[in-house]
Amino acid sequence: MDLAAAQQVLKTTFGYDEFRPGQKAVIEQVLAGQNTLAVMPTGGGKSLCYQIPALLFDGLTVVVSPLISLMKDQVDALNDNGIAATYINSSMSYQEIYQRMQELRAGDYTLLYIAPERLDSSQFVQDLGQLPIKLLAIDEAHCISQWGHDFRPSYLALSTAIEQLPTHPQVLALTATATEQVAQDICQRLAIAPDHEVNTGFARDNLNLAVVKDQDTDRYILDYLKANAGEAGIIYASTRKEVARIASLLNHHQVKAAMYHAGLDDDVRRKNQEDFLYDRVQVMVATNAFGMGIDKSNVRFVIHAQVPGTLEAYYQEAGRAGRDGLPSEAILIYRASDAQIQHFFIDNSEMDEEHKHRSYRKLQVMSQYANTQGCLQQFILKYFGEASKPCGRCSNCTDDREAQDITTNAQKVLSCVVRLHSRFGKGVVAQVLTGANNQRIRDSNLSELSTYGIMAGQRQKSVGELIEFLTAAGYLQSVGGQYPTLAVTQTGVEVLKGSTQVYRKTARTVERAVPVNG
Ligand code: ADP
Ligand code: ZN
Repeated sequence: MDLAAAQQVLKTTFGYDEFRPGQKAVIEQVLAGQNTLAVMPTGGGKSLCYQIPALLFDGLTVVVSPLISLMKDQVDALNDNGIAATYINSSMSYQEIYQRMQELRAGDYTLLYIAPERLDSSQFVQDLGQLPIKLLAIDEAHCISQWGHDFRPSYLALSTAIEQLPTHPQVLALTATATEQVAQDICQRLAIAPDHEVNTGFARDNLNLAVVKDQDTDRYILDYLKANAGEAGIIYASTRKEVARIASLLNHHQVKAAMYHAGLDDDVRRKNQEDFLYDRVQVMVATNAFGMGIDKSNVRFVIHAQVPGTLEAYYQEAGRAGRDGLPSEAILIYRASDAQIQHFFIDNSEMDEEHKHRSYRKLQVMSQYANTQGCLQQFILKYFGEASKPCGRCSNCTDDREAQDITTNAQKVLSCVVRLHSRFGKGVVAQVLTGANNQRIRDSNLSELSTYGIMAGQRQKSVGELIEFLTAAGYLQSVGGQYPTLAVTQTGVEVLKGSTQVYRKTARTVERAVPVNG
């Protein structure tokens, strides 16, 4: 079997002339019988990577995919293309499943979609064992890793299930979001040789990243929707309450919006999702319960009205914009108080201590993303282990404000951190610098420090923001999880020695717009 045959199927069955980046390499490896990990961005075309081999192989391809609603859509689409595909899921009766199994044994299908939870049943795994499975495609493969942001225990059952299948199917794992560590973990758990990872990189050239700070969220969203009237988009918020609030705000302002969160009844959710998919509403306001696997290609913008808990989650959700390859926007509205909500989620979660610690650290990275003045795309790619140049498109790359020399203020902050022996976090550092007089300060005798009050006259909030900036820019680092403390980095030391200057773009003095013609 060769690539020419795959090229043929691409054209005749799917109607595409060329492979997208990565597809060829993945399909070639799969056809050569190698276990493979495919890391491709959302919308990169991962489905074809297993659908084409499935059509070329003798035997069955089983696709493990986490969303039942998506499964049905995919299967319908394949059937429309004349491909024999089906699914088995928990919505089916015992009889239906039995019947389907018989058909599968008779070789009636090329592709079978299942949810990972199916593998929790050893009976089901045994039944699978009777099928001539050639290829096991595992979508959203990052869910297998506890290092990832969306770990699902059912995915762990995969490795044991695979071992129990008598046909020893080969494995193709696919994901749009994997740090180096997660990729390693996937490879190890699914017996994929590390050099059989195909990674097309995470850059999405049609996605414009932006961070919005210090603006009224409602005003911003309404203005944005007015300027982009008729375009489809998703607005994410962290809580159901906020989702409901924004949705009603929009509807009140004549924007057709539906909402989606786990607290809504199944049928309401399904209806709202379809309204959005079929363009009956313009905007979907949702918690992170919405979106995994949603194949709506014309989403023009994704706005996060509140900051999510991890950069992986952010990029994955943001990546739902522009799957059709056309220019699209991903906007993060950031307020420190929203990061506190995520902090609260972690505090109150049932994760073990180690996992919690990791989650706090991930949240800190997310805040750094919001506070960096460097290229946003570069920041994300670096996080995923990829070196790149500034994108030239994001809100930081196009920020034309003049950078100010803030070395003196930076030195004040850094020296205060040193005086505090790196034992305190952002809040206390800002209080000491501004000369706050409260119990905490008195109890620890912090008012006796030489740096106490050296930034008196500045607001605590703006000193806090300066600290965030210095952290995002790498002069300070935060150490620890739940209550991170600040420490000066090597670059920070250079600043203290006076051998490096610090520049920061700050808000221009607002010039009042003069109304034209009165
Ligand atoms: P992913 O799962 O990676 O997010 P999909 O497999 O859903 O992406 O593909 C995204 C879109 O791109 C789909 O509409 C798909 O039909 C289309 N697509 C995939 N491969 C190609 C190709 N080689 N040429 C043109 N369009 C493609
Ligand atoms: Zn940029």
